[in-house]
Amino acid sequence: MPPISGRIPPFNGDSGVWLRCALHAHTTESDGWLSPSMLRRYHAQAGYDVLAITDHDRFTPEPEGNDQLMLIGGTEISLIAPKSGGPLHLLGLGVGQMPAVTPNKSTLAEAADAVRAAGGASFVAHPVWSGLLTDEVAGIERTDGVEVFNSSCDVEQGRAYGDIHWDLWLSQGLRLGGIAADDLHLPGYEAFRSWTMVFARERSRQAVVDALREGSFYATMGPRFEAIELHEDRLEVRSTPVRSITVYANAPYGARVNAGHHELTFHATRLRTEDGHVPEGIVAGDLLSGAIFPRGNWPLKFVRVVLEDDRGRRAWSNPVYL
Ligand SMILES: [Zn+2]
Ligand SMILES: [Zn+2]
Repeated sequence: MPPISGRIPPFNGDSGVWLRCALHAHTTESDGWLSPSMLRRYHAQAGYDVLAITDHDRFTPEPEGNDQLMLIGGTEISLIAPKSGGPLHLLGLGVGQMPAVTPNKSTLAEAADAVRAAGGASFVAHPVWSGLLTDEVAGIERTDGVEVFNSSCDVEQGRAYGDIHWDLWLSQGLRLGGIAADDLHLPGYEAFRSWTMVFARERSRQAVVDALREGSFYATMGPRFEAIELHEDRLEVRSTPVRSITVYANAPYGARVNAGHHELTFHATRLRTEDGHVPEGIVAGDLLSGAIFPRGNWPLKFVRVVLEDDRGRRAWSNPVYL
């Protein structure tokens, strides 16, 4: 039944490198507090592999630094949401120059195409903070995805989670990846609360851009995916310890496994057969190193997984399109 059987990319053992990426950050070249060279130093010191400086409507040249951090070039393009009139911001990641756009005039489709022409991948930033209506994003199919979490919008006003926008867009059949980023302006305020783990074939700007375009990454506030496996009758997830594993498919399909004695007993009692085998349904492991997902006759178009740990920190896999 599934086109993929066994471990799905990027968790299937292909050769490549996992890179911890900061994909949305501002400097004194726009409204950030750190100079470009200090922003670089800040992320290098914090153990990041990749940084995209994304100042508003400009391309900030790569600052020098004697560290291992790879800068990939970036910008954050200001657009106007056509219905709500709110700020529609598009990240251009991995660009070698400022994309050919007219801020607050270009359409989303034009901006996405301009980012691609400049060699980058594009992601719609902070849809909740922007107050975006889900039906005013014509052209979003030309982007590579959306910010599913934004640390700055979280600490500032609690409008951080793009989960619902992403879910509705995916359920409508759009193919979009989900990144998480700090949108760093003030050091110490929203710094290092979320990032994107990119699996690239090598440590180069082009390989990171390719991975962003191909969906070879996951977003996280801390939890880590070890593996996602698709089988004929189930989906298995392995991760660092979490309190829930949620599988989202096209709405209204999906399932959640919760840690805890009650849920464990409930599902085990309901679903386990006499010999202890679990043929279908959901079962909680010991603090969720595994999940089993009923596929049944559901008309699944995609599945994706969200982890949440006991501090409320989430991680979001990209969709697997079935
Ligand atoms: Zn923004
Ligand atoms: Zn920003």
